[in-house]
Parts: sequence; C-alpha cells; structure tokens
Amino acid sequence: MTRCKPVLPGASIGVLGSGQLGRMFAIAARRMGYRVHTFSPAEDTPTGQVADVEIRRDYEDLDAVTAFAAAVEVVTFEFENVPAATAQAAERAAPVRPSGEVLHVTQHRLREKTYLSGHGFPVTPFRAVRSLAELEAGLAALGCPALLKTAGWGYDGKGQVRVYTPGDAAAAWAQLGGQEAVLEAFVAFEREVSMVAARGHDGQLVDFGVIENHHVGGILDYSLAPARVSPATERQAREITRAVLEALEVVGVLCVEFFVLPGGGLLINELAPRPHNSGHLTFDACLTSQFEQQLRAVCGLPLGATDLLRPAAMANLLGDIWSTGTPDWQQALALPNIKLHLYGKDEARPGRKMGHLTAIAGDAEHATAQVLAARTRLGARTSIT
Ligand code: AMP
Repeated sequence: MTRCKPVLPGASIGVLGSGQLGRMFAIAARRMGYRVHTFSPAEDTPTGQVADVEIRRDYEDLDAVTAFAAAVEVVTFEFENVPAATAQAAERAAPVRPSGEVLHVTQHRLREKTYLSGHGFPVTPFRAVRSLAELEAGLAALGCPALLKTAGWGYDGKGQVRVYTPGDAAAAWAQLGGQEAVLEAFVAFEREVSMVAARGHDGQLVDFGVIENHHVGGILDYSLAPARVSPATERQAREITRAVLEALEVVGVLCVEFFVLPGGGLLINELAPRPHNSGHLTFDACLTSQFEQQLRAVCGLPLGATDLLRPAAMANLLGDIWSTGTPDWQQALALPNIKLHLYGKDEARPGRKMGHLTAIAGDAEHATAQVLAARTRLGARTSIT
C-alpha cells in the first residue's frame, strides 16, 4: 500500500492517448478544476478538443514523452496499447497511474491470461500459439470451435479468427500473419457482463456493480445496469474484480469483462486498465462516474460513491449510422430521458465509435428499449444542406 501527496484541483494531469475515454476523463477533470494535457500522434483529437494542452508526437519519441510528463503532476492513460517504453519514459518525470507494470500485463493477451491463471483467477481455457504446430496441438487439446487471437494489439474483436475444424488451422494461422497468438476455447456463455472498479492509493476499493453487455461482430453494441444476474454471480464478480485490482496493485480504474456460464459461474474474458465502454452509462446514471473515479484515484483523492441513481442503458453509435447522411438527432432527443454523447470525430468510418446514447428509466429493460428506440430514430437520412 502506498501513500502519497494528493494532486489537488488546479493541478495539471497528463493523459497518454487521445480518444473518447480521454475526452470524458478530461470533461470530469475540468469540471473539478484540473487542467488536462494529452499526448498522442494525432491532432484535433477527441481528448485534445477539451484538453488545455494537446501534444502531437509519436509514442516512440521518448524525450517528448518525458517532457510531457515533466509538465504535469501525474500521468494516466486512456489507451492501453501505449508502448511500455513510453510509460517508462513518463515515469522518469511523474508518477504514472496505473503503473507501467499494469499496462505491460494487460496490453498483451497472452501475458494477461498467463498472469490471471497463475494467480488462480478463472479464465477461458487457452494455449499460447507461436507456430502452426502449436496451433494444431492447441486445437487438439481445447477442441473446436476455438478462437485464435493475436497476443498484442487486439481490441473490439479485431485480430481474431474463429477456427471451426482442425483442417482450418493453416488458413487461420496465415490469416493472423503468423504472429504470436492465443488460442481460446469457444465459450457457450449465457451472458456477457463486466465490472468496473477503482482502487485508491490507500487500497480503498469501490465498484460500479455488474453491467450487462451485448456485442455485435465483436464490438460492444449496448450495455445495461443493473445486469440480469443472480446475487451469487454478482458477489462472485465483485470478489474476482477486487482481487484482480489488489493483485495488480492498480491505482486507478480497471474493468473486468466476464462470460457468465449457464449455472452462473464466471470466466474472465479480458481486463482493461482504464474506464471501459460498458461503464459509459455511469456518466449519467451514477453519483460518481467511472471517469471522475479515475481522476480521484490517480490524484490520491478519496473515491466517490458509485450508487446507480436509476437503472440505465447505453447504446454505441458507430460510424455506420452516418452511412447515408447526418443522423436525425432531433428525433432521438425527442425522447426526453435520452442523453447524447458525441466524441468530436469528423470521419464516420464503419465500426468506428463516434458516440453513444444513454437512457435512464424505472428499470433496466425499459431503459434498454428506450435507448435502442432512440438509436433507431437516428435513422439514416440524407443530409440537407
Ligand atoms: P474480445 O475482443 O476478446 O473481448 O472479444 C470480443 C467479443 O468476442 C467478446 O465480447 C465475445 O462476445 C466474443 N468472444 C471473445 N472470446 C470468446 C470466446 N473465447 N468464446 C466465445 N466468445 C468469445
């Protein structure tokens, strides 16, 4: 357990990465009187648009990273694929929270799964795959269907191939370009859920309860809270999540994604050492959002209460919605319990997360129906100029 001098309002905070997670973090930080600096290779970014300072340099430019860290009192990240050397360069000039070690473990599927299983956490059965022979042996051990995932740089279902029969092994191996990979047994789960939690410097732990997630094509489509799981499953999710944050000594926010098995047991799918897409609904529905909690944790402030004020649901807005024109915002916002979040991205590519909607209602099913109805109302209209 580490105690440290708190970073108080008025101070500057550095964010490695510049996407929507950094943007929502910056909004929470600015609301509490902090200044925000962001670092990434891009400009006019979702985070940069609301930050005080936007630095556009490559993550490999370690001198620039150290200079960026020297200008702030604490550094956090919104994107875990920042190279480990970047986190180390920042650590030379300011504390990085969560630590570079947490980043190192969680940015690589194989390291993460090896770490989790080595610490006794329940994970999807897996094998390391570094050659076609290892893939064939893995398929013989785990059975088919199975999923072959790149060990590094995978997110939102990217870098994954489903292997239906042992005869597909060579094609799957070629499809991933022969890079180091993880073979996972295909899990016939009943539901997918996640738990976002925060851990402070003093070891204080707070979580946001179980959130239920629905994916389409490997990308989160919508989430709702509270999740439809039994109290026993909720308890198990809480115990596992808290134990993961403690084992990794996280100072900050971490999300654990789970598969709920028939019968209620849980397997960890993956970890994200930062606020998570499934926790976006906390912005509108909880007393303290996941972004404010990240801020409080990395600044050494007491963590806030996470009470879900009302049941909620969140639906992602992918670039596909723009395919035939500007979405009909007015139609969606005519539902008065809908909140619109847009990330300031001007190029709406298919599959790109452009924003989300949140609905608040008397129960989670109703909130889900409302948020999906609002998204349908966005329609696909030809833009009128
Ligand atoms: P990931 O990027 O690894 O979280 O995968 C994206 C989504 O693909 C997950 O949220 C699941 O819906 C699905 N998926 C990933 N791994 C498995 C698995 N081992 N078994 C079944 N479905 C999976």
